[in-house]
Amino acid sequence: MNEEASAIFRSQLDAIRAAGTWKEERILASPQGAAIQVGGREVLNFCANNYLGLSSHPAVLAGARRALDERGFGLSSVRFICGTQDLHKELEARLARFFGFEEAILFGSCFDANGGVFEALLGEEDAIVSDALNHASLIDGIRLCKAERHRYPSGDLAEAERLLRATQGKRLRVVATDGVFSMDGHLAPLDRLADLCQRHRALLLVDDSHASGFVGRTGRGTAEHLGVQGRVDILTSTLGKALGGAAGGFVAARREVVELLRQRARPYLFSNTLAPAIAGGSLAALGLLEESTALRDRLMENARRFRDGMTAAGFAVPPGFHPIVPIMLGEARLAVAMAKDLLDEGIYVIGFSYPVVPQGQARIRVQLSAAHTEAQVDRAVAAFAAVGRRHGVLKA
Ligand SMILES: *Cc1c(COP(=O)(O)O)cnc(C)c1O
Repeated sequence: MNEEASAIFRSQLDAIRAAGTWKEERILASPQGAAIQVGGREVLNFCANNYLGLSSHPAVLAGARRALDERGFGLSSVRFICGTQDLHKELEARLARFFGFEEAILFGSCFDANGGVFEALLGEEDAIVSDALNHASLIDGIRLCKAERHRYPSGDLAEAERLLRATQGKRLRVVATDGVFSMDGHLAPLDRLADLCQRHRALLLVDDSHASGFVGRTGRGTAEHLGVQGRVDILTSTLGKALGGAAGGFVAARREVVELLRQRARPYLFSNTLAPAIAGGSLAALGLLEESTALRDRLMENARRFRDGMTAAGFAVPPGFHPIVPIMLGEARLAVAMAKDLLDEGIYVIGFSYPVVPQGQARIRVQLSAAHTEAQVDRAVAAFAAVGRRHGVLKA
């Protein structure tokens, strides 16, 4: 590569460092779990999306191993050429049934699902109305499509309604939202959005990646929690969080929507099929969720225990029940320094600051798992209290 190009890239890297937004990667030398090996020692992990503790669960590993032995390492193909196995069809049918839709279609990731869903279904004659805090993959997917684009401030139903009125002349309108917003575990008002969409004959598309498998009494997600199961038209979600944690995503909807995606969604048509081991492991994960709600119940109890403990210790914890628990600190420097001290205490958490969250709202985002024991949750609270006192966040 020539020196001018090198200099251009290096100066951008310098700018990222100078802005204080450089992202370091810590290296794990163990499977994902409640306790992990980082930097030569064991620490408790409180920043994974391993909500149900399935990423290293024996039943999931057994399902993946069986698929690996019986169906091989990979398909070396996209789905429509020679990449569809019985396992993939079974997983699609099970996902559709679990979440209460006619059909489901697998993608390599939820990022790909969101990247393909809009362009395949909508065109110039349509409009999309989307929440301003939506995940990057929804934003990118919407950008890839020719439909008119509108955005409402997060959760602002009045503005969403104004936009639906303004787009009345369009063929189709789709309201797109995350089910749960990842920076603070806040839920989208799906009940009121479902009413709004019904009133304006718009479709409701929900990305429920931070809810599928554990939010709602039986883990069907945000719609179940808010009592509107059956009123979401298009569900997108990931297999990379609660539902096993390896990789993969899906869209669930009416048959004609899924069929159209199989014909047109570019990440489905032009990217390799999901590895058999992932399909097998994900089927085993779904099997666990169909059998019992024990894992999501355990997770919710851990989240409640941590939220109560932190609030009692004197930290600012916004109300809620979700296992994403933001500890609001304000200053970016403080969030980063506390996260570093917590790691020294054996608690692995990450500080988030601007531009990931609004200016002045830096926080440490804690994520609970069903894999945590009560004693581990209590250890985290105690470590937060000790570090919080050291930094003057709590009174000594
Ligand atoms: C994690 C996440 C994704 C990306 O999922 P992958 O399967 O890892 O690509 C998409 N949307 C939301 C809301 C997420 O939280």
